[in-house]
Amino acid sequence: MSQVIDIVSLYPKDMNIYGDSGNVLTIQRRLALYGYEPRVHAYNQGDAWPEHVDMILGGGGQDTGQKKIIDDFFKRADLLRSLAAGGTPMLMICGLYQLFGEYFETVDGSRLDGIGVIGAYTVGQEVRMIGNLTEHSADFGDIIGYENHSGQTFLREGVQPLGTVDADSTGNNGEDHTEGARVNNVIGTYMHGSLLPKNPAIADFLIRTAAERRYGSFDPAAAGQTEAQRAELDRINTIASNARRV
Ligand code: GLN
Repeated sequence: MSQVIDIVSLYPKDMNIYGDSGNVLTIQRRLALYGYEPRVHAYNQGDAWPEHVDMILGGGGQDTGQKKIIDDFFKRADLLRSLAAGGTPMLMICGLYQLFGEYFETVDGSRLDGIGVIGAYTVGQEVRMIGNLTEHSADFGDIIGYENHSGQTFLREGVQPLGTVDADSTGNNGEDHTEGARVNNVIGTYMHGSLLPKNPAIADFLIRTAAERRYGSFDPAAAGQTEAQRAELDRINTIASNARRV
């Protein structure tokens, strides 16, 4: 019997810039190579919510994209909050990271409330924070990616950043050297890239957590992983680690 993992891709029509859809592809591919059967549910405004959810992946978007989804997002707020509190692994990039926080005041002065999963608030500024970025994370080692945002995010006291950036990099706000946030199994980050192909440790954290929660353990052998799949995963991991040395 194949072991299914259900993944929600959150608002892929409006929240998917700078290659964020690559995160969904990476999860799909790696799950399959671990022997699982990935089932991806694209969720856009007005869609039905899938019956079973093991993992949620959300991307970034322009301020206009964030405004487009906000009403529907609030219809799903209670559900998302309870899934997050219950330990569902989630990855929210940039625009959705901001909306998982408390609010985002855009550079034109309008205010979008967030759903408050992450104790953080964001204020838009004229100068965008753009560039390649390396951050140092206790949980995942060095994380590499690309940021492009106007919003400066400030974490509330006690909220764990995903990592820290060097003095010459920006990250959450360009001031306190933090980048992203981690609350329970929810990861919020400004890292586009796509993030997951370059940072398999984060992909594997999401996969492992999803499998443990659904099947009691992360066990590729029990999921039916073949020798050829294991070898292919090794090959991909080598490519990723070589790319990280550049
Ligand atoms: N619109 C938001 C900002 O500029 C998010 C941008 C993004 O997702 N890259 O801060």
